[in-house]
Amino acid sequence: MEKNKKTNVKKEKPAGAGCDDSTCHIHGHLKAHGKTFEGNVIKKFPRRVVIEFERMIYVRKYERYAKSKTKIHARLPDCMKDSISAGDYIKIQECRPLSKIIHFVVINKIKGKEEDR
Ligand SMILES: [Zn+2]
Repeated sequence: MEKNKKTNVKKEKPAGAGCDDSTCHIHGHLKAHGKTFEGNVIKKFPRRVVIEFERMIYVRKYERYAKSKTKIHARLPDCMKDSISAGDYIKIQECRPLSKIIHFVVINKIKGKEEDR
């Protein structure tokens, strides 16, 4: 008698091979929620990237705005490690704290490194 193999149908994966990374918001169990930021990748580590973006802060003493840079460490899932490199403009979203400095995960790549310089 043939066993019913179709009872354990897994949810469809997006196009391309999935990854075994448990800290992947697409293939793993990690849920991304909360704030999103966009910024340029300034450093790349094996499973982590550092992004940087500028924001304006108000300096009350001078009644003017000053540019300030913010750096955020984000988890880079295995399925995105080849497509993202330093200089890319990417989007990250908040998730549960994965380590002391990582509480963001890379969502997608917005555009590649600018070649106009
Ligand atoms: Zn993945």
